[in-house]
Amino acid sequence: MPISEDVIVVGGGIAGSVAALSAAETGVSVRLISHKKSTLRHASGLIDVLGYTADGSGPLADPYEALDSLPEGHPYRVVGSDAVREGLALFDQIAGDEYLGGHTDTNALVPTHGGAVKPTARYPRAAAGGIASDDRDMLLVGFESMTDFEASLAADHLDAAGVPFDVTGVTVEFPKTFRADAKVTRFAKALDTDEDVGSRGTREALAAAVEPHLDGAERVGFPSLLGDDHRHEVRDDLESYLGAEVFEVPMGPPSLPGLRLEDLLFDALDEAGVGMSTGNKAVGYETDGDALSAVVVDRQGREIPYHADAFVLATGGLVGKGIGSSREGVREPLFDCHVPHPEDRYDWFVDDAFGDHPFAAFGVAPDDRLRPQDADGDAEFANLFAAGGVVGGADVAAEKSASGVSLATGVVAGREAGESA
Ligand SMILES: Cc1cc2nc3c(=O)[nH]c(=O)nc-3n(C[C@H](O)[C@H](O)[C@H](O)COP(=O)(O)OP(=O)(O)OC[C@H]3O[C@@H](n4cnc5c(N)ncnc54)[C@H](O)[C@@H]3O)c2cc1C
Repeated sequence: MPISEDVIVVGGGIAGSVAALSAAETGVSVRLISHKKSTLRHASGLIDVLGYTADGSGPLADPYEALDSLPEGHPYRVVGSDAVREGLALFDQIAGDEYLGGHTDTNALVPTHGGAVKPTARYPRAAAGGIASDDRDMLLVGFESMTDFEASLAADHLDAAGVPFDVTGVTVEFPKTFRADAKVTRFAKALDTDEDVGSRGTREALAAAVEPHLDGAERVGFPSLLGDDHRHEVRDDLESYLGAEVFEVPMGPPSLPGLRLEDLLFDALDEAGVGMSTGNKAVGYETDGDALSAVVVDRQGREIPYHADAFVLATGGLVGKGIGSSREGVREPLFDCHVPHPEDRYDWFVDDAFGDHPFAAFGVAPDDRLRPQDADGDAEFANLFAAGGVVGGADVAAEKSASGVSLATGVVAGREAGESA
């Protein structure tokens, strides 16, 4: 029997998930197709809306105030500030009390594992104790076996950034010894299940290793590995052993906060009745006049058309391979949508490694309904809408706007697809 839905979303990251939920809210049937795991397992789990303007001013206190200053063609200018708010409102619904920050339009300043202070709109509850505007003294704890968090260095950087509290860093041994290449999930599991270490559990033993270094600090930050399924219980226990607030510092890949966020999104998709096809790549498409009629999925060498009335392209940016580049040019590889870029490859970059690189904003150029446009400014397909990193016009890494752009475009692209199905 042919596969047929009202809406098909390609891409299972934050943009595709939100687009699928937004489409489902219009009352249509939705299927989400995703090949590999999304960039969420690398991402910090923070939901940035806009931390810096396109010309680098910031950190911004209120992202909404700065939206009008963004260049024309920026995804936020295309969808408008109401869509940004709607995207965040949908996120708040999905995240429930696992995330904080929804009480205000103002960005929070959250310490990163490198010791920078990052402006962000929503942060996991587990990271709340680390907010940099809080003036309580802080101890950061790293582990001998985890070289990607240098607690003393992070503390020095925070201090140099002028935070309004004393901060020190210490490196201790994690109470259990793992293989040298153990993942953060192994550390989290030991705390989740409170595995025995000698005569006591891992949580108590960890607190005992940290306690001599407290020196009056009222809050203690660990790399984000403090449990997964039982994360609240782990933090509660550490807090009562230490007599200080315990928080997690967002970390690089593999990122437990990113994985936890992925679980929240997938639970919401399940609850909304969105069909999921994961592990197979969309490799082509079929058309009917100027509209798409199917996206073709490679299932173990067999090419299967998935039919729908409307489609959302949410395959990610250059990092997620939703945008491809070669010596010949830049293109969107699945539907072969036009990606505006300078002809000369040397104009894709600037000499300064940390400069304003044009490639960072490469992506499809959408019309006001988020349909990718061809080189003449016409919709590539009447029923294809784009969301997330595949949409061009913003250097989301420099602006600190990645998840916000994914949420705002996801909510609009999903609704447009649902309403046109
Ligand atoms: C290292 C790192 C750190 C980050 N940190 C932050 C942060 O601190 N704050 C923040 O707000 N954002 C952060 N982000 C960005 C954010 O997590 C998302 O990457 C961004 O919002 C884009 O999401 P997306 O859904 O568009 O794409 P992605 O997350 O890239 O998802 C795209 C999905 O499409 C699938 N796909 C692609 N092609 C196909 C195909 N042909 N067929 C089927 N499926 C396909 C992929 O497998 C993937 O699942 C970070 C990203 C990275 C990489």
